[in-house]
Amino acid sequence: MEPNDIRIGNGYDVHALGEGIRMRLCGLDIEHTHGFIAHSDGDVAIHALCDAILGALALGDIGKHFPDNSQEFKGIDSRILLTKVMELAAERGYRLGNADITIALQAPKLAGYIPAMRESLAGLCGCRADRISVKATTTEKLGFVGRKEGCEVWATVLMVSD
Ligand code: MG
Repeated sequence: MEPNDIRIGNGYDVHALGEGIRMRLCGLDIEHTHGFIAHSDGDVAIHALCDAILGALALGDIGKHFPDNSQEFKGIDSRILLTKVMELAAERGYRLGNADITIALQAPKLAGYIPAMRESLAGLCGCRADRISVKATTTEKLGFVGRKEGCEVWATVLMVSD
């Protein structure tokens, strides 16, 4: 770790939608008929955020740290993965400066969940919610997101050291 260091990272993840699965985003249950098909709980937003944090610190990606063929991580609550990623960062002297997350999903509408999503991620990242931005968009019915086949998330973070 270097003092007063600032590192930028980006993360991207996609999961397919499946009927009858509980939808999880940013550590919250989302009321919907479909959820995300995945080895874990399918929290595509947390996965993108984890990859952004790991990317900022050049620590590889989420698949390297939590292999999706491992029984240990089957069905795992992605909040545990984010907590572990933040521990890896803290061990190296870094904390989250801020995060900006964009979720592309055709349905359901996420606007009502955004404040709780920010609080949820802030709690896991050990910062205030005003350092976490969560934005949601549809893709105007275009592409796989627009056809309600999946969800796409981009995350950008700054990691800082003191
Ligand atoms: Mg994923």
